[in-house]
Amino acid sequence: MAQIRLSDLKHSYYPDPNAAEDYALKEINLTWKDGGAYALLGPSGCGKTTLLNIISGLLTPYQGEVFFDGVNVTREPPDRRNIAQVFQFPVIYDTMSVWDNLAFPLKNRGADNNEVARRVNEIAEMLEVTPLLKVQAAGLSPDNKQKISLGRGLVREDVNVVMFDEPLTVIDPHLKWQLRSKLKELHQKVGITMIYVTHDQTEALTFADEVVVMNDGEVVQIGTPVELFERPEHTFVGHFIGSPGMNIIACEAEGKKARFEGFEVELEGPITDSKGFLAIGIRPEHVSVSHHKGIPARLAKVVDSGRHYIVNAWVGKTEIKAITYEPLPGLNSEIYLTFQPEKTRVYCDGRLATEVTP
Ligand code: ATP
Repeated sequence: MAQIRLSDLKHSYYPDPNAAEDYALKEINLTWKDGGAYALLGPSGCGKTTLLNIISGLLTPYQGEVFFDGVNVTREPPDRRNIAQVFQFPVIYDTMSVWDNLAFPLKNRGADNNEVARRVNEIAEMLEVTPLLKVQAAGLSPDNKQKISLGRGLVREDVNVVMFDEPLTVIDPHLKWQLRSKLKELHQKVGITMIYVTHDQTEALTFADEVVVMNDGEVVQIGTPVELFERPEHTFVGHFIGSPGMNIIACEAEGKKARFEGFEVELEGPITDSKGFLAIGIRPEHVSVSHHKGIPARLAKVVDSGRHYIVNAWVGKTEIKAITYEPLPGLNSEIYLTFQPEKTRVYCDGRLATEVTP
């Protein structure tokens, strides 16, 4: 187990990078606590795999350093870093039995037979594959192959970190939930530092104690699932996390008030920066709909999610989403929207620019 520290990390796939867009990773400073469960979340192409490969040693960064428990490993090859990695697609030996596949990483490190048997049985039980231990891996379903791949990643207790790169991509949707909670449970049992890379917010938020959100080669926010949902520090986080994401509404603002489309709303606190493009950020969950009180809006669309209604409404030329549990009038009817002041924030050039004063 190890604490992992990334210091002034930058990476470019070009030999002679100049402009910011030449960098797949722009400037990363990050510490992953020993024993933590982390998710690295961001859209395709934001640099997640690049970062993972730098940690595992498959890639040497263009600039900056990687430390495991204070030891600089930046130039150490993968086999000297003592990590386990689980990839998107199963990495198993088809000609071996499930037992031998799970035992392989342990035998490779010279573990004795008793230790191998104890760990293989333990992991097989946790992943509910004990009945398959004698089966040859070639005959397994894709789901079970990936379970064995996960098992191979988790079987060693002496690794510095286990890294998962989109490990549930090939798993059947109904099994995904089960495996996700299994992984969380496993983390709680073994306490090894785990980094889980995904572009899927549900996977990130259910697995991790802390989520590192990346966009365009940069870390935009690190926080617990609640923090990311409740108080996004960047409009990207607000929009990327949540379903639907946060409303981002161009506005003017002064003190504790913002104005859009001629209407004034109260903010969580005073604005701290107004030298840039200002936008209100409010989650659909925090916009309430009524028949008589609030900002007048025209009902444009209603989606019944089964649990609640997702409403799209126009205030002038601004589209706003709201979530409500109450029945709604017909399309094009006038409705009224109210923003919860303590959840209404302003962002300046994408960055949170309101503060809550005690
Ligand atoms: P995905 O979820 O699609 O795997 P990602 O977040 O893991 O995406 P990376 O694969 O790290 O992102 O890619 C980051 C950027 O670096 C992208 O613009 C990608 O096109 C570029 N890139 C990745 N690998 C290479 C490579 N070997 N050569 C050149 N550019 C690369």
